[in-house]
Amino acid sequence: MTLFVCAIDQGTTSTRFQIFNQEGAFVTSHQEQLRQIYKRPGWIEHDPKEILRSVVTCAEEAIRRFELMGHSTKHIKSLGITNQRETTIVWNKDTGEPLYNAIVWGDTRTNKIVQRLQKKDTSKLQKMTGLPLHNYFSALKLAWLMKHVPAVKTSIEKGQAMFGTVDSWLIWNLTGGPNGGAHVTDVTNASRTMLMNLETRAWDPILLEFFGVPESILPEIVSSSEHYGDVELIKAIKGLPICGCLGDQQAAFVGQKCFEPGEIKNTYGTGAFMLLHVGDTPVCSKQGLISTIGYQLGRDGPVGYCLEGSIGVAGSAIEWLKDNMGIIENVKQVDELASQVDDTGGVVFVTAFSGLFAPYWRDDARGTIVGLTQFTNKCHLTRATLEAACLSTRAVLTAMRQEGHVELKTLKADGGLSNSDVCMQLQADTLGIPRPAMRETSGLGAAFAAGLGCGLWKDLETVRSLYVEGADVFEADINNKDREAKYTMWEEAVKRSYGWTQ
Ligand code: ADP
Repeated sequence: MTLFVCAIDQGTTSTRFQIFNQEGAFVTSHQEQLRQIYKRPGWIEHDPKEILRSVVTCAEEAIRRFELMGHSTKHIKSLGITNQRETTIVWNKDTGEPLYNAIVWGDTRTNKIVQRLQKKDTSKLQKMTGLPLHNYFSALKLAWLMKHVPAVKTSIEKGQAMFGTVDSWLIWNLTGGPNGGAHVTDVTNASRTMLMNLETRAWDPILLEFFGVPESILPEIVSSSEHYGDVELIKAIKGLPICGCLGDQQAAFVGQKCFEPGEIKNTYGTGAFMLLHVGDTPVCSKQGLISTIGYQLGRDGPVGYCLEGSIGVAGSAIEWLKDNMGIIENVKQVDELASQVDDTGGVVFVTAFSGLFAPYWRDDARGTIVGLTQFTNKCHLTRATLEAACLSTRAVLTAMRQEGHVELKTLKADGGLSNSDVCMQLQADTLGIPRPAMRETSGLGAAFAAGLGCGLWKDLETVRSLYVEGADVFEADINNKDREAKYTMWEEAVKRSYGWTQ
């Protein structure tokens, strides 16, 4: 008899529900797009109720398919959750109603709050949190909600408010909501709030005071793999234990089985996120990398720390080519266009739509295209868009080489944009990359955590020995001189993207 685990992957642009068997092989899934709400330039919101509804619909549809394949839900052992990180929700714990839309990670509305906080003593922040003071992290978004949304302020005063990232919102609702839902967040998600101390893995009173956040609204911090509660909300899987939870990038890291120091994965999704395993203690970066937790698999289970390079725009630039510029009709056309030319014809596109993240951390950068000539056509621009993701990755990798203190092993790629062969070839020109056949590794990582949490798999060694579908390997196809020249042009173009905001 085969047993199964399933995973909710609640991403920025879509929600998926995936089912895997005990060998770690994919069985079936369902996916739905998520509506993006843009009220003003730089603002990105999601409707928390829509997030929840999409999870329920995806679960019901995936289970329906699973049953049509002749399987029974009796054999599903547990559920794992992985989610878009940093996205911030505050809700009323008595009614379950959100008090505002979810403020999405890429939203830049908190720039002024960042500037104000920079005037305080910030010297201990990076060491304590592993993070730079930046609009990206949840504490800033929460500070904005407390200042600008009266319902949030009054609910906090009345002791009715709950804060959470998307994992907390989902687990609380799935396990019963106002009727006793579990208010928890796992260490990987908590490490992105800027309120958790990276070494103690607990909310830190100094940080709470710095951001003016009352501890009473925060979820309990738990490990990434343990029993948090049972599903109440979804009929098709009612009673199923929820035993895994990881932020999406950390889940991909676990899904790619990066359990040893030196192992790296890069997920090319809406943004691109590279994580390097640095061992079981945090490494503090001086070059704009984030220090974060890769996983804690069990209350007393193994902990892996990472250096992370977060790149704000990767696949979203492809969406921009499609939706804003009309250069392509669907994402698959990217490769058709980009492969019609051998290079970008001297064009460099710094896709800094909402500033630049790692390793630059410049809020004032904006999208910049340099090197246009009468000769430039849409194929060049498309190729330059793909190159932007790769050159940003190189900048991050350079910092990692200098700071990781571990020997870098292979770079494993995944995520939607890794479907582009041209992109992977361009990236390989920086470093050889194996690309697994299963490119949605976040769901797999959450399933691994859930399977470990319910005892389906005994330990990391068992997980490591599980089935992996064959990988394509892209080898470098460029000489050193061209590679360096291209990177020098990139660095010049990056400098020109600075200072485009007031
Ligand atoms: P997320 O989890 O952040 O929502 P995904 O990993 O699903 O993101 O990746 C979505 C991105 O991948 C989209 O921005 C899309 O443009 C890009 N993408 C998907 N398929 C392709 C493809 N074949 N070629 C190029 N880009 C693609």
